[in-house]
Amino acid sequence: MEAKYDFEKKFREQILQCSRCGFCQAVCPVYGSTLRPALNARGKMLLLKEVMDGKIDLGEDLIESLFQCTTCASCAANCPSGVNVPEIIKQARKDMVHIGSCHPAFVGMNDVLQKSTNIYAEDELPDFGRKRDKKAAFVYFVGCVGSYREDESTEETLDLMDRLAVDYTLISEVCCSGVLEDVGYNLNPKLARENLDRMFSTGAGAVITGCPYCFRTFTHRKEYDELKEKGIKVLHISQFLKDFDFGVKTGKKVTYHDPCDLGRHCGIYEEPRATIKKIASDFVEMQHHHADSLCCGAGGGVRGAFAKNSLSMARRRLKEAEEVGAEILLTECNSCVHNLVNAKLRKQNIKIYNTTAFINELVNKIDKV
Ligand code: SF4
Ligand code: SF4
Repeated sequence: MEAKYDFEKKFREQILQCSRCGFCQAVCPVYGSTLRPALNARGKMLLLKEVMDGKIDLGEDLIESLFQCTTCASCAANCPSGVNVPEIIKQARKDMVHIGSCHPAFVGMNDVLQKSTNIYAEDELPDFGRKRDKKAAFVYFVGCVGSYREDESTEETLDLMDRLAVDYTLISEVCCSGVLEDVGYNLNPKLARENLDRMFSTGAGAVITGCPYCFRTFTHRKEYDELKEKGIKVLHISQFLKDFDFGVKTGKKVTYHDPCDLGRHCGIYEEPRATIKKIASDFVEMQHHHADSLCCGAGGGVRGAFAKNSLSMARRRLKEAEEVGAEILLTECNSCVHNLVNAKLRKQNIKIYNTTAFINELVNKIDKV
Protein backbone atom coordinates (compact mmCIF):
# COMPACT_ATOMS: atom_id res chain seq x y z
CA MET A 1 0.00 0.00 0.00
CA GLU A 2 1.43 3.39 -0.95
CA ALA A 3 2.28 5.62 2.00
CA LYS A 4 -0.33 8.33 2.44
CA TYR A 5 1.44 10.44 5.05
CA ASP A 6 5.00 11.62 5.67
CA PHE A 7 5.17 9.85 9.04
CA GLU A 8 4.77 6.54 7.18
CA LYS A 9 7.37 7.46 4.59
CA LYS A 10 9.90 8.43 7.23
CA PHE A 11 9.14 6.09 10.11
CA ARG A 12 7.30 3.01 8.81
CA GLU A 13 10.12 0.63 9.74
CA GLN A 14 10.45 2.09 13.23
CA ILE A 15 6.71 1.86 13.91
CA LEU A 16 6.76 -1.80 12.81
CA GLN A 17 9.79 -2.35 15.05
CA CYS A 18 7.69 -1.64 18.16
CA SER A 19 7.47 -5.08 19.78
CA ARG A 20 4.70 -3.94 22.17
CA CYS A 21 6.94 -4.90 25.07
CA GLY A 22 5.48 -2.08 27.18
CA PHE A 23 8.81 -0.97 28.70
CA CYS A 24 7.77 2.58 27.83
CA GLN A 25 4.68 2.32 30.02
CA ALA A 26 6.72 2.57 33.20
CA VAL A 27 8.41 5.78 32.08
CA CYS A 28 5.78 7.69 30.07
CA PRO A 29 4.61 10.64 32.22
CA VAL A 30 1.32 10.96 30.33
CA TYR A 31 0.47 7.32 30.99
CA GLY A 32 1.66 7.71 34.60
CA SER A 33 -0.80 10.50 35.26
CA THR A 34 -3.75 9.15 33.26
CA LEU A 35 -3.25 5.34 33.31
CA ARG A 36 -4.73 5.26 29.81
CA PRO A 37 -2.93 2.82 27.48
CA ALA A 38 -3.86 4.82 24.35
CA LEU A 39 -1.84 7.74 25.72
CA ASN A 40 1.31 5.72 26.35
CA ALA A 41 4.11 5.56 23.75
CA ARG A 42 3.09 1.99 22.87
CA GLY A 43 -0.55 3.02 22.44
CA LYS A 44 0.48 5.84 20.12
CA MET A 45 2.58 3.44 18.01
CA LEU A 46 -0.32 0.99 17.80
CA LEU A 47 -2.66 3.75 16.63
CA LEU A 48 -0.22 4.85 13.94
CA LYS A 49 0.15 1.25 12.78
CA GLU A 50 -3.63 1.05 12.42
CA VAL A 51 -3.49 4.22 10.31
CA MET A 52 -0.76 2.69 8.12
CA ASP A 53 -2.91 -0.45 7.73
CA GLY A 54 -5.86 1.70 6.62
CA LYS A 55 -7.99 0.60 9.59
CA ILE A 56 -8.46 4.07 11.10
CA ASP A 57 -8.09 7.64 9.89
CA LEU A 58 -5.46 10.10 10.99
CA GLY A 59 -8.22 12.48 12.01
CA GLU A 60 -9.96 14.18 14.90
CA ASP A 61 -10.23 10.93 16.91
CA LEU A 62 -6.45 10.76 17.28
CA ILE A 63 -5.93 14.33 18.48
CA GLU A 64 -6.16 13.45 22.16
CA SER A 65 -3.58 10.70 21.97
CA LEU A 66 -1.08 12.14 19.51
CA PHE A 67 -1.15 15.70 20.80
CA GLN A 68 -0.91 14.59 24.42
CA CYS A 69 2.83 13.90 24.50
CA THR A 70 5.37 16.13 26.21
CA THR A 71 8.08 14.94 23.75
CA CYS A 72 10.10 14.14 26.87
CA ALA A 73 11.92 11.26 25.08
CA SER A 74 11.78 9.03 28.13
CA CYS A 75 10.22 6.27 26.03
CA ALA A 76 12.95 6.57 23.39
CA ALA A 77 15.67 6.39 26.06
CA ASN A 78 14.15 3.19 27.44
CA CYS A 79 12.94 1.45 24.28
CA PRO A 80 14.86 -1.80 23.62
CA SER A 81 13.79 -1.70 19.95
CA GLY A 82 15.18 1.76 19.29
CA VAL A 83 11.84 3.36 18.41
CA ASN A 84 12.17 7.16 18.47
CA VAL A 85 8.59 7.84 19.54
CA PRO A 86 8.79 11.65 20.00
CA GLU A 87 10.23 12.16 16.51
CA ILE A 88 7.48 9.94 15.05
CA ILE A 89 4.81 11.82 16.97
CA LYS A 90 6.17 15.19 15.86
CA GLN A 91 5.95 14.08 12.23
CA ALA A 92 2.44 12.63 12.71
CA ARG A 93 1.39 15.98 14.23
CA LYS A 94 2.72 17.76 11.11
CA ASP A 95 0.66 15.40 8.95
CA MET A 96 -2.40 16.10 11.08
CA VAL A 97 -1.90 19.85 10.81
CA HIS A 98 -1.59 19.38 7.05
CA ILE A 99 -5.02 17.72 6.84
CA GLY A 100 -6.59 20.22 9.25
CA SER A 101 -6.79 17.94 12.32
CA CYS A 102 -4.92 19.80 15.01
CA HIS A 103 -5.58 20.51 18.68
CA PRO A 104 -7.00 24.08 18.84
CA ALA A 105 -4.40 25.13 21.42
CA PHE A 106 -1.63 24.41 18.94
CA VAL A 107 -3.45 26.16 16.09
CA GLY A 108 -3.60 29.15 18.42
CA MET A 109 0.09 28.87 19.32
CA ASN A 110 1.07 28.93 15.66
CA ASP A 111 -1.27 31.87 14.94
CA VAL A 112 0.30 33.82 17.80
CA LEU A 113 3.84 33.17 16.59
CA GLN A 114 3.01 34.31 13.08
CA LYS A 115 1.70 37.67 14.36
CA SER A 116 3.48 38.29 17.66
CA THR A 117 7.07 38.16 18.89
CA ASN A 118 6.39 35.87 21.86
CA ILE A 119 4.22 32.88 22.75
CA TYR A 120 2.05 34.90 25.14
CA ALA A 121 1.28 37.67 22.62
CA GLU A 122 2.50 40.18 25.21
CA ASP A 123 3.03 43.71 23.93
CA GLU A 124 6.22 44.65 25.70
CA LEU A 125 9.44 42.78 26.39
CA PRO A 126 10.58 43.53 29.97
CA ASP A 127 14.01 45.19 30.14
CA PHE A 128 14.76 44.06 33.72
CA GLY A 129 16.15 47.54 34.37
CA ARG A 130 19.07 46.88 32.06
CA LYS A 131 20.13 48.37 28.75
CA ARG A 132 19.56 46.02 25.84
CA ASP A 133 21.49 45.49 22.58
CA LYS A 134 24.86 46.77 23.88
CA LYS A 135 28.28 45.64 22.71
CA ALA A 136 29.33 42.83 25.08
CA ALA A 137 31.28 39.57 25.33
CA PHE A 138 28.12 37.53 25.93
CA VAL A 139 24.45 37.74 24.96
CA TYR A 140 22.10 36.51 27.67
CA PHE A 141 18.97 35.14 25.96
CA VAL A 142 16.09 34.91 28.43
CA GLY A 143 13.32 33.09 26.52
CA CYS A 144 9.55 33.64 26.68
CA VAL A 145 8.80 31.90 29.98
CA GLY A 146 11.68 33.68 31.74
CA SER A 147 10.66 37.02 30.23
CA TYR A 148 6.92 36.96 30.74
CA ARG A 149 6.02 34.35 33.39
CA GLU A 150 9.04 33.67 35.60
CA ASP A 151 10.48 37.18 35.45
CA GLU A 152 11.39 37.22 39.16
CA SER A 153 13.56 34.18 38.65
CA THR A 154 15.20 35.88 35.66
CA GLU A 155 15.82 39.00 37.73
CA GLU A 156 17.72 36.84 40.25
CA THR A 157 19.75 35.21 37.49
CA LEU A 158 20.71 38.59 36.06
CA ASP A 159 21.63 39.86 39.53
CA LEU A 160 23.92 36.89 39.93
CA MET A 161 25.57 37.56 36.56
CA ASP A 162 26.10 41.19 37.64
CA ARG A 163 27.68 40.10 40.93
CA LEU A 164 30.01 37.84 38.97
CA ALA A 165 30.89 40.83 36.74
CA VAL A 166 29.94 38.99 33.56
CA ASP A 167 30.18 41.26 30.51
CA TYR A 168 26.76 40.45 29.02
CA THR A 169 23.92 42.18 27.28
CA LEU A 170 20.26 41.38 26.86
CA ILE A 171 18.92 41.78 23.33
CA SER A 172 15.53 42.81 21.93
CA GLU A 173 14.82 39.12 21.68
CA VAL A 174 11.84 37.42 20.08
CA CYS A 175 10.62 33.86 20.60
CA CYS A 176 13.10 31.27 19.24
CA SER A 177 9.87 29.57 18.01
CA GLY A 178 11.40 26.10 18.38
CA VAL A 179 8.25 24.96 20.16
CA LEU A 180 6.36 25.08 16.85
CA GLU A 181 8.42 22.10 15.69
CA ASP A 182 7.00 20.04 18.55
CA VAL A 183 3.36 20.89 17.93
CA GLY A 184 3.01 20.15 14.23
CA TYR A 185 4.27 23.37 12.62
CA ASN A 186 7.61 24.78 11.47
CA LEU A 187 9.89 27.18 13.26
CA ASN A 188 9.23 30.74 12.10
CA PRO A 189 12.34 31.77 10.08
CA LYS A 190 11.51 35.49 10.39
CA LEU A 191 11.78 35.27 14.17
CA ALA A 192 15.06 33.34 13.88
CA ARG A 193 16.43 36.04 11.55
CA GLU A 194 15.53 38.79 14.02
CA ASN A 195 17.30 37.01 16.86
CA LEU A 196 20.39 36.27 14.78
CA ASP A 197 20.74 39.87 13.58
CA ARG A 198 20.41 41.22 17.10
CA MET A 199 22.90 38.70 18.48
CA PHE A 200 25.44 39.54 15.76
CA SER A 201 25.10 43.29 16.26
CA THR A 202 26.39 42.98 19.85
CA GLY A 203 29.73 41.55 18.71
CA ALA A 204 29.37 38.82 21.37
CA GLY A 205 31.41 35.63 21.04
CA ALA A 206 28.87 33.49 22.89
CA VAL A 207 25.16 33.29 23.61
CA ILE A 208 24.13 32.08 27.06
CA THR A 209 20.58 30.83 27.43
CA GLY A 210 18.58 30.40 30.60
CA CYS A 211 16.07 28.22 28.79
CA PRO A 212 16.92 24.63 27.78
CA TYR A 213 14.45 24.79 24.92
CA CYS A 214 16.09 27.90 23.44
CA PHE A 215 19.47 26.19 23.95
CA ARG A 216 18.25 23.13 22.07
CA THR A 217 16.81 25.28 19.28
CA PHE A 218 19.99 27.36 18.86
CA THR A 219 22.21 24.27 18.81
CA HIS A 220 20.04 21.81 16.86
CA ARG A 221 17.95 23.78 14.35
CA LYS A 222 19.26 24.64 10.91
CA GLU A 223 17.64 28.10 11.08
CA TYR A 224 20.28 28.97 13.71
CA ASP A 225 23.27 27.34 11.94
CA GLU A 226 24.75 30.79 11.32
CA LEU A 227 25.76 30.91 14.97
CA LYS A 228 28.07 27.93 14.44
CA GLU A 229 29.22 29.23 11.06
CA LYS A 230 30.29 32.53 12.63
CA GLY A 231 32.05 30.74 15.51
CA ILE A 232 29.56 31.96 18.12
CA LYS A 233 29.27 29.52 20.99
CA VAL A 234 25.95 28.65 22.57
CA LEU A 235 25.99 27.77 26.26
CA HIS A 236 23.27 26.88 28.68
CA ILE A 237 23.72 28.92 31.85
CA SER A 238 24.49 25.74 33.80
CA GLN A 239 27.52 25.19 31.56
CA PHE A 240 28.62 28.79 31.91
CA LEU A 241 28.40 28.86 35.72
CA LYS A 242 29.94 25.50 36.53
CA ASP A 243 33.47 26.90 37.11
CA PHE A 244 32.46 29.83 39.31
CA ASP A 245 32.86 29.79 43.06
CA PHE A 246 29.91 31.45 44.76
CA GLY A 247 31.19 31.41 48.33
CA VAL A 248 27.81 30.33 49.74
CA LYS A 249 26.36 27.11 51.12
CA THR A 250 22.97 25.89 52.23
CA GLY A 251 22.40 23.42 55.05
CA LYS A 252 19.07 22.34 53.52
CA LYS A 253 18.48 19.05 51.75
CA VAL A 254 18.53 19.73 48.02
CA THR A 255 17.49 17.68 44.99
CA TYR A 256 17.68 18.36 41.27
CA HIS A 257 15.11 17.90 38.50
CA ASP A 258 16.66 17.29 35.04
CA PRO A 259 14.69 19.25 32.43
CA CYS A 260 14.00 16.91 29.46
CA ASP A 261 15.31 19.45 26.94
CA LEU A 262 18.59 19.88 28.78
CA GLY A 263 19.09 16.26 29.84
CA ARG A 264 17.75 13.66 27.43
CA HIS A 265 17.68 16.01 24.44
CA CYS A 266 21.06 17.74 24.92
CA GLY A 267 22.97 15.38 27.25
CA ILE A 268 23.67 17.99 29.94
CA TYR A 269 23.46 16.26 33.30
CA GLU A 270 26.67 16.87 35.21
CA GLU A 271 27.25 20.63 34.98
CA PRO A 272 24.11 21.53 36.96
CA ARG A 273 24.99 18.92 39.59
CA ALA A 274 28.60 20.18 39.84
CA THR A 275 27.28 23.64 40.73
CA ILE A 276 24.66 22.34 43.15
CA LYS A 277 27.14 20.12 44.98
CA LYS A 278 29.35 23.19 45.53
CA ILE A 279 26.57 25.02 47.34
CA ALA A 280 24.71 22.12 48.99
CA SER A 281 26.47 19.50 51.13
CA ASP A 282 23.22 17.58 51.55
CA PHE A 283 22.36 16.72 47.94
CA VAL A 284 20.09 13.80 47.14
CA GLU A 285 18.88 12.29 43.87
CA MET A 286 15.21 11.49 43.33
CA GLN A 287 14.12 8.00 42.26
CA HIS A 288 14.25 9.06 38.60
CA HIS A 289 17.24 11.13 37.56
CA HIS A 290 19.70 11.75 34.72
CA ALA A 291 18.47 9.95 31.55
CA ASP A 292 15.68 8.32 33.59
CA SER A 293 14.38 11.62 34.91
CA LEU A 294 10.60 12.01 35.14
CA CYS A 295 9.13 14.80 32.98
CA CYS A 296 7.42 17.70 34.82
CA GLY A 297 4.60 17.64 32.24
CA ALA A 298 5.14 21.10 30.75
CA GLY A 299 6.70 20.27 27.37
CA GLY A 300 5.45 19.54 23.87
CA GLY A 301 2.68 22.12 24.26
CA VAL A 302 0.93 19.85 26.81
CA ARG A 303 0.74 22.54 29.49
CA GLY A 304 -1.34 24.72 27.16
CA ALA A 305 -3.49 21.99 25.64
CA PHE A 306 -4.00 19.55 28.53
CA ALA A 307 -3.46 21.73 31.59
CA LYS A 308 -5.01 19.39 34.15
CA ASN A 309 -2.89 16.40 33.15
CA SER A 310 0.17 18.61 32.88
CA LEU A 311 -0.25 19.60 36.54
CA SER A 312 -0.86 16.04 37.55
CA MET A 313 2.47 15.05 35.93
CA ALA A 314 4.19 17.83 37.89
CA ARG A 315 2.60 16.50 41.10
CA ARG A 316 4.09 13.07 40.49
CA ARG A 317 7.50 14.72 40.19
CA LEU A 318 6.97 16.73 43.37
CA LYS A 319 6.01 13.52 45.16
CA GLU A 320 9.37 12.02 44.23
CA ALA A 321 11.13 15.07 45.67
CA GLU A 322 9.13 14.74 48.88
CA GLU A 323 9.85 11.02 49.12
CA VAL A 324 13.59 11.70 49.39
CA GLY A 325 12.95 14.38 52.01
CA ALA A 326 14.14 17.29 49.86
CA GLU A 327 13.47 20.78 51.22
CA ILE A 328 14.66 22.50 48.06
CA LEU A 329 13.96 21.36 44.51
CA LEU A 330 16.30 22.95 41.98
CA THR A 331 16.07 22.82 38.22
CA GLU A 332 17.58 24.63 35.24
CA CYS A 333 14.43 25.53 33.32
CA ASN A 334 11.93 28.31 33.95
CA SER A 335 9.21 26.28 32.28
CA CYS A 336 9.76 23.39 34.73
CA VAL A 337 9.83 25.89 37.64
CA HIS A 338 6.56 27.38 36.40
CA ASN A 339 4.77 24.04 36.15
CA LEU A 340 6.14 22.62 39.41
CA VAL A 341 5.28 25.79 41.37
CA ASN A 342 1.76 25.81 39.91
CA ALA A 343 1.32 22.16 40.85
CA LYS A 344 2.58 22.52 44.42
CA LEU A 345 -0.10 22.12 47.06
CA ARG A 346 -0.29 24.59 49.94
CA LYS A 347 0.51 21.88 52.48
CA GLN A 348 3.76 21.00 50.71
CA ASN A 349 6.73 22.78 52.24
CA ILE A 350 9.25 22.12 49.51
CA LYS A 351 10.60 25.21 47.74
CA ILE A 352 11.22 25.24 44.01
CA TYR A 353 13.84 27.40 42.31
CA ASN A 354 15.95 27.83 39.26
CA THR A 355 19.49 27.04 40.48
CA THR A 356 20.81 30.53 39.67
CA ALA A 357 17.91 32.17 41.49
CA PHE A 358 18.56 30.03 44.55
CA ILE A 359 22.27 30.86 44.57
CA ASN A 360 21.50 34.56 44.29
CA GLU A 361 19.08 34.31 47.20
CA LEU A 362 21.83 32.72 49.32
CA VAL A 363 24.27 35.47 48.35
CA ASN A 364 21.65 38.12 49.18
CA LYS A 365 21.20 36.67 52.66
CA ILE A 366 24.94 36.93 53.35
CA ASP A 367 24.97 40.54 52.08
CA LYS A 368 22.19 41.44 54.48
CA VAL A 369 23.95 39.97 57.55
S1 SF4 B 1 9.37 0.34 24.67
FE1 SF4 B 1 9.56 0.63 22.45
S2 SF4 B 1 9.15 -1.41 21.58
FE2 SF4 B 1 8.43 -1.47 23.68
S3 SF4 B 1 6.21 -0.91 23.51
FE3 SF4 B 1 7.34 1.00 23.92
S4 SF4 B 1 7.75 1.88 21.90
FE4 SF4 B 1 7.19 -0.29 21.59
S1 SF4 C 1 7.88 11.31 24.61
FE1 SF4 C 1 7.39 11.21 26.80
S2 SF4 C 1 5.21 11.78 26.91
FE2 SF4 C 1 5.65 11.29 24.76
S3 SF4 C 1 5.05 9.13 24.53
FE3 SF4 C 1 7.28 9.20 25.02
S4 SF4 C 1 7.40 8.98 27.26
FE4 SF4 C 1 5.26 9.52 26.74
